[in-house]
Amino acid sequence: MFQIAIDGPSGAGKSSVAKLIAARLGIVYVDTGALYRTIGYFVRGKGIARTDVAGIVSCLPHIHIEVRFENGTQRVYLNGEDLGDRIREPEISMYASAVSAVPEVRAFLLDTQRDIAKKNSVIMDGRDIGTVILPHADVKVFLFASNEARALRRTKELEAKGMPARYEDVLREMIERDDNDRNRAVAPAVAAPDATLLDNSNMTIEESAEAIIALLRKKQEEND
Ligand code: C5P
Repeated sequence: MFQIAIDGPSGAGKSSVAKLIAARLGIVYVDTGALYRTIGYFVRGKGIARTDVAGIVSCLPHIHIEVRFENGTQRVYLNGEDLGDRIREPEISMYASAVSAVPEVRAFLLDTQRDIAKKNSVIMDGRDIGTVILPHADVKVFLFASNEARALRRTKELEAKGMPARYEDVLREMIERDDNDRNRAVAPAVAAPDATLLDNSNMTIEESAEAIIALLRKKQEEND
C-alpha cells in the first residue's frame, strides 16, 4: 500500500489531478475538503455565524459523517444524507474555511481521514495532508498556480455545475479563503518541508498527473 498527499490552495487543480491519478493507478481518491464543507453546511443550516466558534463546536455532537466509495467515487453522508453538490456552493466554501480553523473540528475529522488511508492505497487532497494527516506519505506534493489561473478554473467549474458566479467574486473570495487557511493557528495550509512544489499554472491536468506519477515511480524504485 502507498499514500500520495496533495496539498495546495483552492483552485490549484488538486481534485482533477488526483482523480485522474487515482483512475490510472486504481487507488482511492479522498477529497478531504468535502468533510469540512459538510460541517460548514450543517453549521450554516443551524443559522450559526461563521465567526461563532462556540456555536460551531456545539454542533459537533449532532454531526455524524460517513465516507463511502460508490463505483470509485467518494460520497459523504451527513447524518445519513448525501448532500451531493450542495456543499460546492460559494457560501459553503467560506463556511468550510471558517469551521476548518477551529481545532475541535480538525480533531473531529482526524480519524475519519486516517482510517481510510489505513485500509487502502490512497491519493488524498487537502491543506494539511502532508503535514498532519499522512506525515509519512510516500509522495507529497504542494500544487499551486497563479491567483488568476485558479480563479478562472473555479469560475468555469462552478458554471459547469450549474452554479454560475462572477470571476471577480470568485477571485476575491478565493484570496480571502486562502488567507484564512494559510494564516490559521492549527494546521495552516503550507507545504510540508519534504513536499515537492509544483506550479501548474501552465500545465494541463494530464501533465500534472504525469509529473506526480513520475515522483511515485522514483520513490518506489528507491525503495526496491
Ligand atoms: O478543498 P476545498 O476547497 O473543498 O476545501 C474547502 C475548505 O476546507 C478549505 O478552504 C479549507 O479551509 C478546508 N480544508 C482544510 N483542510 C483540508 C481540506 C480542506 O482546512 N485538509
